[in-house]
Amino acid sequence: TPLIGVLALQGDVREHLIALAAADAVARPVRRPEELAEVDGLVIPGGESTTISKLAALFGLLEPLRERIAAGMPVYGTCAGLIMLADKILDPRSGQETLGGIDMIVRRNAFGRQNESFEAAVAVTGVDGDPVEGVFIRAPWVESVGASVEVLAEHEGHIVAVRQGNALATSFHPELTGDHRLHALFTGMVRTATARTAA
Ligand code: GLN
Repeated sequence: TPLIGVLALQGDVREHLIALAAADAVARPVRRPEELAEVDGLVIPGGESTTISKLAALFGLLEPLRERIAAGMPVYGTCAGLIMLADKILDPRSGQETLGGIDMIVRRNAFGRQNESFEAAVAVTGVDGDPVEGVFIRAPWVESVGASVEVLAEHEGHIVAVRQGNALATSFHPELTGDHRLHALFTGMVRTATARTAA
C-alpha cells in the first residue's frame, strides 16, 4: 500500500487525507522535510497558493519539494496545488514562488468575480464512467501547456486538468465531493512509480 503525504501547511488537508484513505492509500500530513522524505507520493491541497508558497519557504520545504518532484515523485495538486505545480504563474503576487513540475502557465482566480465558485460536470481523460463533479472555488485555469503536457480536461474551452509524467493537477476539488476516482487515479500512479523503484 503506497504511503501518500498531504502537504499540510494550509488548505483543505483533512479532506484529502480522507479521500486518499478511501482510495486505498495510507495517507499522512507532511510539514517537515523528514516527513517528506518518507512518503511515496504527495498531494498539494487547495487553499491559497501565496500562503502555501510562503509557509513552504518558512518551513524549509521549497528546495526539498522541488528536488523530489524533479526526481519523479508522483504529485497531485488541486486548485492552489495546481498553481504550486506550474512552472510559471501569469499574475503572481509579490514573493509568490512555485515548485514547478508541469510545463504550463496558469492564471490565478481565472474564472472571474461573478463566477467565483461554481460546480460543473467535467469529463476527465483516464477517469472512467460519468463525468466528475467539478467544484471550482476561485479556481485557476491553465493558460497554455508545453508539448509534453497531456490535457485531461477542459471546461468552457479552458484547460482544468493536466498531467505531465508523474505530476497531476486539477483546477477543481475532487476531495470535496465524495467521488474518489481522481484520488484512485493518483494512488495508481504512486503504485506504478513505487513498483518501478523497487524493481
Ligand atoms: N485562488 C486561490 C489561489 O490563488 C486558489 C483557490 C483554491 O485553492 N480553492 O491560490
